[in-house]
This record gives sequence, structure tokens and C-alpha cells, in this order.
Amino acid sequence: MRTIAAGKARRQGNLSEFPRLLGETLCLDFTNTVEARLSEHPQDFLTGPVELARWARHADVIDEADAERIAGEMAADPAGASNEWRRAVALREHAYALLRDIAAGRAPADVRVDALQPFLCASLGRAHLRPGAGRFELTPPDGIAYVADLIVLDLHRLLTSERLGRLRQCPGCGDCGWLFLDTSRNGTRHWCSMEGCGSRAKMRRHYQRMRQN
Ligand SMILES: [Zn+2]
Repeated sequence: MRTIAAGKARRQGNLSEFPRLLGETLCLDFTNTVEARLSEHPQDFLTGPVELARWARHADVIDEADAERIAGEMAADPAGASNEWRRAVALREHAYALLRDIAAGRAPADVRVDALQPFLCASLGRAHLRPGAGRFELTPPDGIAYVADLIVLDLHRLLTSERLGRLRQCPGCGDCGWLFLDTSRNGTRHWCSMEGCGSRAKMRRHYQRMRQN
């Protein structure tokens, strides 16, 4: 498994074809593979099994060797790869629906929690318990489900940690909808990024004031 780079380098990601990684944790970056979620024209970047594997390389959770291995496995089993991609997209949408409610301070409906249960059972059931630095780690086995398993394990860590209280959803200009953990000291981060949604909202307020005057 890769050690994930910190800070700005990590936020940019490895590949320019995918959105930046502003969620502060893997499972949120994964939900943010749909851009302009709250708009009428959301853009999905995970359009197939290959894109799913490439995104994992983008997020730096697999290295080049892993990427080649997964590509080989997908080529050998296209139907399996397609099923796994559909499963990953379903995971993403179920995770988004639950996390959006939590970010908005709404009590999540049972149906949202239940929808994630099969994903958690499958990935936790496959994971290996391995000693790490000062603690144990759960790592998924190699295979076509490796990427989705990693995301589920990260989601599990988030849902069962107090970091969940810092979960936010970027309002954008009524369009963004990206999820992120507010890691600011005062808990005042409002936007997925200040230079993106933050500055667009500022400009919009500025023009509205100009029009009113
Ligand atoms: Zn945003």
C-alpha cells in the first residue's frame, strides 16, 4: 500500500484529468469524483472500470505497479471489472447520500445506513489485520476489488471517529456539493477551496452589490 503524500502535492493528485483532492480523506475525495453535484448538470469522472483504476492512481493509493496489475486483471475479466466499477459507483452514491445528511446535521435515515452495510461487511470480511507502526492496520487483499475496499475501510474509519463532527459540504454557488473535513483550527472552513468556490462566491456577492447600487 502507498504512503499518501501530505499537503499541497496530495491535493493536486497525480493526474490532471481528475478533480483535485480537497476532501482531506480518501472516501470523501472519492465522493468528490462528481463535479457540480448540486447543479442540474453534474459531471461524473468515473465513467468506467479504467477510470476507477486511474482515479486510484490519481489519489496515490496505488502505485504504477499496482495500476498495471489491476489493468491486467481487468483485461482478463472485463465482466468482473465492469461489475466492480458499478459496485464502486453504487458505494460512492450510498456514501454520498449518508454523508450529505450528516454534514447537514440531519439524522440519517435507517435506509441510508442499511445501504452501506453490505459494502462494509464485504470489505471488512476480506481485509487482513496486519501490525503497523504502533497499531494494527486493516488492508484489503490484492484483486479487482482492491480500490473499493480501500475506500470502504477509510469510510469505516471516518464513520466511527470523532472527525465525523468536522464533515462539511461545500455550497459553492448552489452547485458544488463536494464533501470535506474541516481541519481548520477554529472549524471555520466553508468552501472546498478558497481559490475555487470561495472566490466565485465572493465575486458573485460583489456583482450583486454592484447591481443593487
Ligand atoms: Zn466547492
